Amino acid sequence: MFERVIFVPFDHLSLDHGALAAAHRETDLVVMVESERMLTGRPWNAERLFFMVSAARHFAALAEADGFTVRYVRAPTTLDGLNQVRQEFGDLPIVSAEPSSFRQSQQLTEFGVEFLENDFFLTSRADFALWAGKQKSYVMENFYRAQRVRLGILVTNGAPEGGRWNFDADNRLAPPKNYTWPGPLTHERDDIDREVEKLLSHTATTTWATTRAGALTQLAWFVEHHLAGFGPFEDAVPKDEWALHHSLLSPYLNVGLLHAHEVIAAVLDAYRDGRAPIQSVEAFVRQVIGWREYINGMYWFLGEDYRNLNGLQADRDLLPAFTDSTATQMNCVSSVVADIEKRAWVHHIPRLMVLSNLALVTGVNPQKFLDWMREQFVDASDWVMVPNVIGMATHADSGRLMTKPYAAGGAYLNRMTEFCGGCRFDPKKRVGDDACPFTTLYWDFLDRHRETFAKNHRMGQQLAGLNRLSDLPEVRVRAAEVLDELSAGRF
Ligand SMILES: Cc1cc2nc3c(=O)[nH]c(=O)nc-3n(C[C@H](O)[C@H](O)[C@H](O)COP(=O)(O)OP(=O)(O)OC[C@H]3O[C@@H](n4cnc5c(N)ncnc54)[C@H](O)[C@@H]3O)c2cc1C
Ligand code: SF4
Repeated sequence: MFERVIFVPFDHLSLDHGALAAAHRETDLVVMVESERMLTGRPWNAERLFFMVSAARHFAALAEADGFTVRYVRAPTTLDGLNQVRQEFGDLPIVSAEPSSFRQSQQLTEFGVEFLENDFFLTSRADFALWAGKQKSYVMENFYRAQRVRLGILVTNGAPEGGRWNFDADNRLAPPKNYTWPGPLTHERDDIDREVEKLLSHTATTTWATTRAGALTQLAWFVEHHLAGFGPFEDAVPKDEWALHHSLLSPYLNVGLLHAHEVIAAVLDAYRDGRAPIQSVEAFVRQVIGWREYINGMYWFLGEDYRNLNGLQADRDLLPAFTDSTATQMNCVSSVVADIEKRAWVHHIPRLMVLSNLALVTGVNPQKFLDWMREQFVDASDWVMVPNVIGMATHADSGRLMTKPYAAGGAYLNRMTEFCGGCRFDPKKRVGDDACPFTTLYWDFLDRHRETFAKNHRMGQQLAGLNRLSDLPEVRVRAAEVLDELSAGRF
C-alpha cells in the first residue's frame, strides 16, 4: 500500500515544485487538510477565503487527475486532519516542503513531519542568509543587482541590459488624460467554485482564478495587454481604475499555482520579441526577482521575533475606518477600503500611501494592523506581510528594512492620487474643520517622534520643515481631535 504521506499545504499548490515534484504516484498518499480553524479562526475577507479554499479544492482534483491518490480531509485543525490520516493509514513518514511561516514550521516539526527544501522561490533561505550576512544595511537594490547577475536576467557580460540597472527615472508617470486601459480579465466560475461560495455564503467576484489554467491565462493576459505599460504607470492611482497595468499575479505566485521562473520567462520572451520596452520589463523583473525574493529572504533572516517589534511604541487600536469603508469621510481611505471589501486587493501604492500611512501617522499598533492586513488581502501570507508591514509600512523595526518612515501629508497624496478632488477635506490645510487628517497628522507624527527622528540624518529635511511651522500648537490641538474622532469612527 502507501509508503509515505505527502502533505500539501494550501500555499504549495504545485505538481512541479515542493514535495509533489519528486513524489511517487503508486506509493505516496497526497494529503491536504481544509481546517475549520482556517475557515472560521479569524475574520477573513470572504473573497480571500474563497480564493484560498477554491484553489486548494481545484488543486486536489488536478493532482488526482494527474495520477496521485489524494485525501482531502476536513478537520477542526491541520494537525487533527493529519492525525485522522495517521489513524487510517498507520504511522507512515509524512513529508512536506518547508512551510512558508515560522508558526507552521514549528507545528509540523513537532508533529514529526520531514521537510524537503522549499523551492517556491528563486533564492534559497540559506543563499539569502549568505548575502544578508555580508551586508551593513539590507538595501534591496543591492540584492536585486546581485540577483540579476546570479540569475543571468537582463545582463550581458555583467552589464545591465539597456545600460542601466534601474529605469525608475523613466517611470512613475501620471497616465495621460483619456488614457484607455485594456481592463482586467474575468474568470468564469465552475461547480467547485460554486460549492465554496455556498460554504462561505459569499458570492465571489470574477477577479481571481482558482485553477492553474486560470493563473496561466492571467499571466498570458498580463504579458499581452499590460506589460508594455507596466513601468510608466506602476505608481499611478487614478480615481476610476483599480488594476491599471498591474499583473494581479501575486495570489497565484504565493499559493504555488505559478512559479516566479515561468513568470519571468514569459516576460523576457516578450522583451526579446520586442513586445515590451526595457523600462517596463526591468520594472516588473525588479518586483519579482528583487522585492519578492528579498521580502521572503528577510522574513527568514530576521527571525520569528521580528513580527513583534514596535519601535515607535504605537498602541492605538485598529481604527474603524479600516474595517468599514463607510466609517470615514476621508475619500482616499474609504475608496481604498471599499476596494478591499470587494476584491481583497489594491495595488502597492494604496497599500503604502493610504493604508500604511494612516496606521503610521495615527499610531495604530503595528501588530493589530498586521493582523488586519493578513486577514484582508487575497495575496497575504505571513512571510510577505510581516516584513512589508513591520518594516516598510510602520517603521516598527526602527529602520532595519527602510531607513526612514513612509509618512506623507495630504499635499503628497493630492499630487500622487486622484482622491482629493472628491473629498470633503482640503489637502493643503493642517488646521480647521476641513483640514486634511493626513496633513494634520503628518506634522503631529513628526512632532511626537521628534527626538527619535533627530538621530536619523535622512529625516533632517522633514524635521527642518517641522521647526518652521508657525502654527504647531494649533496643529497639536487639531491632531488630538482628529485622533479621537478617527478612533471613534466619526470622521
Ligand atoms: C504594506 C504592504 C503590504 C503588502 N502585502 C503583500 C502581501 O501580503 N502579499 C504580496 O504578495 N504582496 C504584498 N505587498 C506587495 C505588493 O503590494 C503586491 O505584491 C502587489 O500589489 C500585488 O499585485 P500584483 O501581482 O498586481 O503586483 P505587480 O505590481 O504586478 O508586481 C509583480 C509582483 O511583484 C511582487 N512584489 C512586488 N512588490 C512586492 C513586495 N513588496 N513584497 C513581495 N512581493 C512583491 C509580487 O509577487 C507581485 O505579484 C505589500 C506591499 C505593501 C506596501
Ligand atoms: S484631502 Fe486628505 S483625506 Fe481627503 S482624499 Fe485627500 S489626502 Fe485623503
